[in-house]
Amino acid sequence: MQTKFRLLFIVTLMLLALGGATIINVSLNFRDYSIKSAVEKATMTVAIVKDGLTAHMVNGIMDKRQYFLNQISNNYDDVHALWLVRSDNVIKQYGNGFNNETLRDAIDTKVLTTGNMITEVNEHTNKIILRVTIPYKAKINSNGTNCLSCHDVNNGTTLGAISMEFDITNMRSAGFFTILKILGLNILFIIIVLFLINHYVTPYMKLFSNMQDGITKAYSGDFTHEFSTTVEGDGKQIVSELNTLFKKMQETFGDIKYNLSTFIPQSCVSSADPLYEAKTIIGELSDIYKFKKTIELDASKEVVYTRIVDILTNKFHLENFAFYEIDTVKDTRKVIYITEQTSICHDEVDKEAALCRAHRTKTDVISSEFVDLCQHCNAKEKYYTCIPFTINEENSIVISVTSESEDKISAITAKISSIRNYLEAAKPVIESKILMSKLRDTSLRDGMTGLYNRRFLEEFIDTLMSQAIREQDTYSVLMLDVDFFKMVNDTYGHDIGDKVIVEIGKVLKENIRDANLAIRYGGEEFVIMLHNADKEGALQVAQKVHAAFGELIFEVGNGETMQKTMSIGMARFPEDGDTIWKCIKFADTALYVAKTTGRNKIIEYTKEMSENSDLR
Ligand code: GH3
Ligand code: MG
Ligand code: MG
Repeated sequence: MQTKFRLLFIVTLMLLALGGATIINVSLNFRDYSIKSAVEKATMTVAIVKDGLTAHMVNGIMDKRQYFLNQISNNYDDVHALWLVRSDNVIKQYGNGFNNETLRDAIDTKVLTTGNMITEVNEHTNKIILRVTIPYKAKINSNGTNCLSCHDVNNGTTLGAISMEFDITNMRSAGFFTILKILGLNILFIIIVLFLINHYVTPYMKLFSNMQDGITKAYSGDFTHEFSTTVEGDGKQIVSELNTLFKKMQETFGDIKYNLSTFIPQSCVSSADPLYEAKTIIGELSDIYKFKKTIELDASKEVVYTRIVDILTNKFHLENFAFYEIDTVKDTRKVIYITEQTSICHDEVDKEAALCRAHRTKTDVISSEFVDLCQHCNAKEKYYTCIPFTINEENSIVISVTSESEDKISAITAKISSIRNYLEAAKPVIESKILMSKLRDTSLRDGMTGLYNRRFLEEFIDTLMSQAIREQDTYSVLMLDVDFFKMVNDTYGHDIGDKVIVEIGKVLKENIRDANLAIRYGGEEFVIMLHNADKEGALQVAQKVHAAFGELIFEVGNGETMQKTMSIGMARFPEDGDTIWKCIKFADTALYVAKTTGRNKIIEYTKEMSENSDLR
């Protein structure tokens, strides 16, 4: 509507300017014209008076001239004054004439001197006087009158002057009323024009304003605006097309938004411009899709974790952060990656994951929200944001970002929803990797004892060995075998034999640490690999296992019991052999020696055993 008022204002100004110009023009011209016509009329009147006087002269009644002049003055209202003056020649010949026929002013003198007519307009505040003075010259007229017959002068000599003053004040008031009329007409014209503009423009202005409202709403993603107009023809057509277009846009954007929201669980973008929002979400989706496709082909959960660390570093530009994996069942926490040497959490959180506030509450922990928010953070002077994420019932992760700048932490906090989108994409992949690893674990474990099987040893021995060489680790290999086991089967049956094997599994699990490996190598043969144990330590373990097994009492039915012994051979990597396989073989050699030298004993491998063919 503002536009309409501006338009009306401009039109009014233009019309007023036009009207003003017209009035000025008319008033100037009118004045000139009025004066000109008054002068013409006055000149004509003076000429008539002159002719009248000539007639008086010809008829010899010049002495009656005053009556004639009085008649003229009385009959014409606008004749303000009328007088005659005589030239010196006439005065010399005929005397001064009547009393009032004397020179009155400089104009009279000038006309008598020059013989030229003078007109003059004298404007006073209350009236305008037009003065006309014409010379009366001696001449011989074609009608027979001859001034020279009475006057002793030359032809063309000025005999006198006739002066008349006319009151033309009426001209001024006539002009004033004319201008007033023009002004009135102008104002009437302006009013009509404004009324017409208002009448015809208002519907268009309303349409524009309506369109503007709709477009403003559309810019913020709202296409629900209904356009309407009272303008017929093109206006109506445009409104109808706009309504159709907006309806389509509304449906399309609704679909796009809905579809995008089903792909991307966390709203990572919030923009007033739906097109920009859609573009950003599609870009984010495309990145997440590529990420997911990549991690699906990764070999293990650990590699997926490495990719997440890459994304956090390179895409989200996290400078200092730790990536933890939490075993919910054991309530322990493991560092997967950390940019700084030390974690900002107290050490006990690793052993008791529930101490981690983010993990326990399953909500983001943002240090700037509350003083000393996490009781187990030992970096009080730093800002932090800890993001928990649940993978499944047994596994969770926590990403702990730290910074010395509050602004940086705020910037990272703003990216949490985006980071979570990546974690959401990784979640099913990590879950499937965990499952795969469990399945794989099953195929690598012995069903009866729960210990690793021989396949495990075959698959992982190379990895173990290269790691041992790189880290300069040592392994003590123990090879165990039950003495006279066949007899158990033969005497008490296979079930009792199985029971003995299961019990060996328990004995091994109870007597060795997590870092060590217990493997069911064959029927009732077991291998223990002790990580970084010295010879004495390894012997102690062997003795403990040997003793624990020897003390077991098996019920074999009918109230009878049985006890068994075992023989153990021991070799050390890399002391005895440069590969673990060799050491397993040497432990077996030592076991053989134990078997052949009386059984129920622990024998350490010596080089001689390999050299002595009797002992092989
Ligand atoms: P030695 O003292 O020389 O070791 O005598 P041994 O009788 O124990 O001989 P060996 O170690 O060769 O015996 C292996 C026997 O273990 C052969 C097989 O019948 C038995 N066995 C292997 N696997 C199983 C099993 O899963 N269950 C049972 N019950 N017996 C098994
Ligand atoms: Mg045996
Ligand atoms: Mg055996």
